Amino acid sequence: MNPTFKPRPPLAPQRGSSLAGKAYWAMVQRVALTAAAIDVGYIALFLWLGSQPLAAINVISIGMYLGAYRLIQKRYNVAGLLLIWLEVVGHSALGSLLIGWDSGFHYYLLMFIPAIVIANTRGYAAPMVLALLAYYLGLHALSSHLGPLDPLPARSVNIVNWVHICLVFAMSAALSAFYRRTILIAEARLRKQATLDPLTSLANRSHFEALSTNALARSQRDGAPVTLLLCDVDLFKRINDQYGHAVGDEVLVAMAKVLAANLREGDVLARWGGEEFLALMPASPLDAACATAERIRAAIEQTPLDVGQAPIALTMSFGVAQVHSAEDLQAAIARADKALYQSKNAGRNRVSVA
Ligand code: GH3
Ligand code: MG
Ligand code: MG
Repeated sequence: MNPTFKPRPPLAPQRGSSLAGKAYWAMVQRVALTAAAIDVGYIALFLWLGSQPLAAINVISIGMYLGAYRLIQKRYNVAGLLLIWLEVVGHSALGSLLIGWDSGFHYYLLMFIPAIVIANTRGYAAPMVLALLAYYLGLHALSSHLGPLDPLPARSVNIVNWVHICLVFAMSAALSAFYRRTILIAEARLRKQATLDPLTSLANRSHFEALSTNALARSQRDGAPVTLLLCDVDLFKRINDQYGHAVGDEVLVAMAKVLAANLREGDVLARWGGEEFLALMPASPLDAACATAERIRAAIEQTPLDVGQAPIALTMSFGVAQVHSAEDLQAAIARADKALYQSKNAGRNRVSVA
């Protein structure tokens, strides 16, 4: 690769990719709306069980959840999240104090543990979990000490307790599914960044080496011939100088497409360097590989590329080398490189064999 050309940073941070990104806030908004809907059900439940204060508290809760939803919609994300926290912390306290600890309002506090630990990006997880524990213990002590301030029959408290347990199960499962999905998406993105060239989406050098080593071992075991095809765009620097880097990039993408279209399913194709591409063709004897190279060369020569302003005439030079039995991949690549060098020296736009 030309040392003066600056490639784009391979691992530039992606917006909306982390657990504190766009997807996270969309999830928090969904939680707020779901919680508001659940609270509508709670109003009915508490009216039926005869606890007007708790029904009234749920009306306030709905207002808080909708407020949090609105705040996040207006990008006041932290304020929205704090409002949700305040709701859960306050609601669990009022519920526990009014009808007693056994009503299970405190389960909702436990849901904050994974939320704090997984989503916390600033290293405050341990103190926040400890603060939550202190609050939990304090609430338990206070509600046990005071006893229910607005007692309900034991059967009603039991119903409330089981409704809470079911909801906490459902919400914990949904939250875990969100975290799992986020991790899988991040993993796929990282794998792509680590293996593919961002411009052409072809395999990068290291991925090519991994794929080729496997393909080569398989072919050598089966005694099938393997051929390497190294090619380089002729006078590419001129394209960049004449039309600019953006057009140069488009040319590279178009070249990658031509190469991929002319190779077979099992062939491994990579962007080897700046304007250099390398293909490993398993089960392909030298003459067949040369014919393929010649077909690609002629196709590129005969089809000026329609990128940007005017059609651009392009040619490519090729070096072909059959991998000898028990030969190391790097040694074979070096021979293909020599053959390519011969093509360049002999006037470009041709195929040479190592
Ligand atoms: P030759 O026929 O001998 O190969 O000449 P050339 O001009 O193609 O070769 P040279 O190595 O002198 O120039 C290669 C150019 O490729 C220079 C470098 O800036 C450019 N290049 C490398 N990577 C990229 C890229 O990703 N995008 C663009 N637009 N240009 C690139
Ligand atoms: Mg070149
Ligand atoms: Mg080159």
